[in-house]
Amino acid sequence: MGLHEYKKKRDFKKTSEPAGAGKTKGRELIFVVQKHDATNLHYDFRLELEGVLKSWAVPKGPTLNPQEKRLAMMVEDHPFDYKDFEGVIPEGQYGAGKVIVWDNGTYHAKNILDRRENEKVLKQGLEKGDLKFILNGKKLKGEFALVKMKTAQKNSWLLIKKKDEFSTAEDILEDSASVLTGNTLEEVDGGGEKKKSPL
Ligand code: MN
Repeated sequence: MGLHEYKKKRDFKKTSEPAGAGKTKGRELIFVVQKHDATNLHYDFRLELEGVLKSWAVPKGPTLNPQEKRLAMMVEDHPFDYKDFEGVIPEGQYGAGKVIVWDNGTYHAKNILDRRENEKVLKQGLEKGDLKFILNGKKLKGEFALVKMKTAQKNSWLLIKKKDEFSTAEDILEDSASVLTGNTLEEVDGGGEKKKSPL
């Protein structure tokens, strides 16, 4: 997909979101979940792959409960540097509203440690519409799957927690603070009321 769509949607003179691609250089692939108070509050679930962050907007947020499948709408790739973005997207800009880094960590395919091998297997899963992975986050842990739905709306996926030692019926979203700053969305300095926009 690349970053063309991401750049097209944003005016980097106005938004403080990262403009550049950033460099992926860790030994392990990373993931990030951003809580985003746009027109509708949602969680942006992002997986590092092929030098960018593959991204899904999850209206109800991730869950550790295997019984609850969460709708995840695939959106445009985001630059690697977006992983640390926390702040306010200004009024009139795409995605206007507050953002915090709700969770982050590393991820990998099951039983695979090598980064290159991981990228190969994960890319195949993405292309197949059946992506299985292990998250090592601060809040999200264990085995998950992103499964593409066979519906007319081609961007619809489901984010599903697999049953393991980390699965629980408890609501992980109650832990609402940023893993970077400890701020909740309410505590992000927005400089007054903002108009919100959809994604
Ligand atoms: Mn968003």
